[in-house]
Amino acid sequence: MNDEQPTGIGATVLGYPRIGPHRELKRAVEDYWAGRIDEPALRDVAAGLRRATCTALADSGLDSVPGNTFSYYDQMLDTAVLVDAVPARFRDEGSSELDTYFAMARGRDAVAPLELTKWFDTNYHYLVPELGTDTAFRLAGDKPLAEFREARDAGVPTRPVLVGPVTFLRLAKPAADAPEGFRTLELLDPLVDVYAELLGVLADAGVAWVQLDEPAFVADSTEEELAALHRAYERLSALPARPLILVAGYFGDFADALPVLGGSSVDGIALDLVTAPAQLDAVRGLRGIRDKTIVAGVVDGRNVWRTDLADALSRCTPLLDHAGEVAVSSSCSLLHVPYDLDAEPSLDESLRGRLAFARQKVAEVARLGRALRDGEGAAAVDPPAAPRRDDGVRDRLTALGPEHRRRAPYAERAAAQRERLPLPPLTTTTIGSFPQTDAVRRARADLRAGRLDEAGYAERMRAEVERIVRLQEDIGLDVLVHGEPERNDMVQYFAELLDGFATTANGWVQSYGTRCVRPPILHGDVSRPAPMTVPWIRYAQSLTDRPVKGMLTGPVTILAWSFVRDDQPAAETADQVALALRDEIAELEAAGVAIVQVDEPALRELLPPRAADRAAYLEWAVGAFRLATGAAAAATQVHTHLCYSEFGDVIDAIDGLDADVTTIEAARSRMEVLADLAAVGFARGVGPGVYDIHSPRVPDETEIGGLLDAALRAVPADRLWVNPDCGLKTRGYAEVEPALRAMVGAARLPRPAR
Ligand code: GLN
Ligand code: ZN
Repeated sequence: MNDEQPTGIGATVLGYPRIGPHRELKRAVEDYWAGRIDEPALRDVAAGLRRATCTALADSGLDSVPGNTFSYYDQMLDTAVLVDAVPARFRDEGSSELDTYFAMARGRDAVAPLELTKWFDTNYHYLVPELGTDTAFRLAGDKPLAEFREARDAGVPTRPVLVGPVTFLRLAKPAADAPEGFRTLELLDPLVDVYAELLGVLADAGVAWVQLDEPAFVADSTEEELAALHRAYERLSALPARPLILVAGYFGDFADALPVLGGSSVDGIALDLVTAPAQLDAVRGLRGIRDKTIVAGVVDGRNVWRTDLADALSRCTPLLDHAGEVAVSSSCSLLHVPYDLDAEPSLDESLRGRLAFARQKVAEVARLGRALRDGEGAAAVDPPAAPRRDDGVRDRLTALGPEHRRRAPYAERAAAQRERLPLPPLTTTTIGSFPQTDAVRRARADLRAGRLDEAGYAERMRAEVERIVRLQEDIGLDVLVHGEPERNDMVQYFAELLDGFATTANGWVQSYGTRCVRPPILHGDVSRPAPMTVPWIRYAQSLTDRPVKGMLTGPVTILAWSFVRDDQPAAETADQVALALRDEIAELEAAGVAIVQVDEPALRELLPPRAADRAAYLEWAVGAFRLATGAAAAATQVHTHLCYSEFGDVIDAIDGLDADVTTIEAARSRMEVLADLAAVGFARGVGPGVYDIHSPRVPDETEIGGLLDAALRAVPADRLWVNPDCGLKTRGYAEVEPALRAMVGAARLPRPAR
């Protein structure tokens, strides 16, 4: 430990965005991939962004500035590379370190990349390290040290942030060639050795504090996992020369880890008091707390609302008599919110007064830090304006009883639908979107830039819809779609048309690697001023005798991919969205539409990390979907689309949605989903994907026929639908057209005598 450094943390944040206020990093990395700039040019951009971040954080009054928060792609990938957990298939003498790093993220020729998966229940995705008995950890890089030195040279001492060793192992997966039964936690000791070495190096360089993130422990933990946490931090905190250690647990309740860490000699614990305020009690009684810094995460790092400073302060002060130091911070890294509210000049003023993005949240933390240190109350600030209120919507929701979430029994619906829609067994369809061509994107850009007016834009989109309908007829699909050319994004499209939402101009947030999204802001009561999809579907249906599906995004997915108001339970907000969709469905029905699809690809994403919280979530999620679809006539066929292949945890909920037809990703998992569905007695229509749209490969008839044969062993032909895994918008026509022809061909082959 270094006695010359101040030992407190004071005001801090657990991490910061890194893509650049104008997505500079995205552009530079993509330029590098395309060969437009070289490595030194890319490194220059990165260094500039890091410098701007650390000086801005120091200047805005934080006492402790997080370091090592930069990444060219992902912090889990950085950690894997740092400890040399690089699978053999990526090791290539001819590649630079940086190219090997990107190959792990994106693949290289025939080499598949690491798997990408969601970072807890956020919209950020990390790369999953692959570990096996031949993984030989060693300290293979100096990124945390180099970034510390770089910031110090700019006058800012930082607190390097690292993924903690136990979370790293819990989030990694056994490599394909690992022995049967291998568990990644078996590698704890050698991994902790590397962390020990790293902490020594950082201490030598003058690092006062390091932050080790252990968010895996806000999920349910086994005895073995808790024992690993104990072992790791006993070892690291006993090192003779090391920085002070802060262990951070965020996105939920860290209570399981607290006794373990309290009993160890780590110097600080950071808690998420936004998601899990109730842990305050557990902390106060914690053994060992007198010697520790408690970092109170009271400024929401995942949402965009301004903090109620007095309330936030009142969550910190009860700790003052207990902890060695009470520091104040964001609840998690600010990676999950956009950079700066000041980059949104056209937001409505009363809404703006309710918002805080990363830069504003740093100022809030700094202010709370001063109030706490000086023993003052948080200086009064004007209370934010109240959210838009719509009594019409509220009254309608109050008046709806449980019967409004229930349709006629399935058998009755199925009979009515058979009569209305004579469809062949093994009905073929697609999930909704067709490839977004350059011409479509150009038309949208022209509309935004004022080079094209609304009427001209609509005309181009109608021409595209017509082309897509003709193509589907030519391919021989049974149930058609309009292709979604008019949608920039399946959530933003609806957010722009509903009241109660705002969209931003620059509110980009990293989703994975260079992919960024601009989540809409759901800020007030939601209502639907006008039909959102009816003219498009009606137009598409006017072109053909085959049924065209109405296409909507479901309430859970709309919430999951937006920043959502936090002044009322999510269940209530979801029901308001559902009510707007319910009205849209009624209008589609009135226009003669016989099939409506309500997509819920994010149903599983919002699943809480702890099993105990899941039932309550699924109840409101399923309830909202049923509110949206519950008024559909028996003869209207309701479809839903879900897009993940692992869904053991939500299988009952899928049944609970009560859709007439469920299309679901399955091509990669070879139809395993069907057995799971059969196990819960699922007896409605199901379309397991038979064409993996995440890969550029074009499957042939034989391959798809094989998948159909497998599916037919679990589902009778009159309930089995034939469709791709997901929408086609990210693919090109050169792949999509032959793949769909093969799909239709496979469905029409005589069977089983094939
Ligand atoms: N209907 C949407 C599409 O086809 C569904 C997308 C999704 O599942 N993510 O693009
Ligand atoms: Zn999908």
